[in-house]
Amino acid sequence: MIDIASPLRLRLDSAALVHNWRWLAERSGPAACGAAVKADGYGLGAGAIVRHLAAAGCRHFFVATWAEAAALMPLPAGVSLSVLHGVGVTDMVAARTLPARPVLASVEQVARWRAAGEGRPCDVMVDTGMNRLGLRVEEALNGALDGLGIVNLLSHLASADEDSAQNAAQLAAFRAVRSEIPAQRYSLANSAGICLGPDYAFDLTRPGLALYGGLPRGEAAGQIRQVAYPEARVLQVRTVPAGETVGYGATWTALRSTRVAVANLGYADGYLRCHAGTGGATWEGRALPLIGRVSMDLTAFDASAAEEIGEGDWLALDYDLPTTAAATGLSQYELLTGLGARFARM
Ligand SMILES: *Cc1c(COP(=O)(O)O)cnc(C)c1O
Repeated sequence: MIDIASPLRLRLDSAALVHNWRWLAERSGPAACGAAVKADGYGLGAGAIVRHLAAAGCRHFFVATWAEAAALMPLPAGVSLSVLHGVGVTDMVAARTLPARPVLASVEQVARWRAAGEGRPCDVMVDTGMNRLGLRVEEALNGALDGLGIVNLLSHLASADEDSAQNAAQLAAFRAVRSEIPAQRYSLANSAGICLGPDYAFDLTRPGLALYGGLPRGEAAGQIRQVAYPEARVLQVRTVPAGETVGYGATWTALRSTRVAVANLGYADGYLRCHAGTGGATWEGRALPLIGRVSMDLTAFDASAAEEIGEGDWLALDYDLPTTAAATGLSQYELLTGLGARFARM
């Protein structure tokens, strides 16, 4: 077999990942702390994330779809997996076969699960105000769930990253559901919800973003460590004479003769054009600002501070999530999940 090395790699700092999970677990108080690993572990590689977190003691994982669940098999011993989108018409075979539970998210899904006659345990999502997925509170309280073996009863916060009155309203609605519907565990908080305090933790928390280095709210500042380090190889280094321009649209002009490093990286890799103007990279501690536009597969960096850089060297992209989100207007979630398939996950 030919070994073809990718010119893009995404380094996962597993010690930082485990550090972030432990901090979130501590903030969750007596509640168990799970992990949302949907969208391939927010783009970082769900298999590796599950292995590292399971080894650290995490027992409850959440994916969006059955395809994502199947990709995680076999699961580490003692770990449970829930599928947030529940069971659609075409999901029943997977739901019957795989060792994972659906999070039933509508009256129709509950009926579908009952009709399959499985009698197997399930999770349930109740909507407390987000109006995205979940049975309405009145549906849940009017008998729709009677007799189901519910392991985790979930709801999801819509505005936990803000100081919004919606948080307390959802908390009150969830408590009302909890007092009526029996389940083994109750779970409301995502990363930002954990920061809202112990009232929101119940029995099980479900962080995603903060595990991967995102800052969900100010309370977590200084506690959460960067986990994802994207790196791109230099394809060539050229000297651009004073007065000449670089890239599409000629948006950058060399004021003096300038060394320019052209990297194997572009918007097709999820490094979007909005990085232009603020993006950058480092090489051996030296800063290389992005210059000109981001192309599909290529991006140029001013290597004035790194005269010795050459073809084949690795540039570490500036990718601290809160800083990069503020600079680009992308969300921290988009910055993680947008990183493309050409990155080799390490
Ligand atoms: C994605 C998701 C989470 C994790 O949210 P973060 O904001 O990334 O912490 C938790 N619960 C549900 C239902 C989700 O869809």
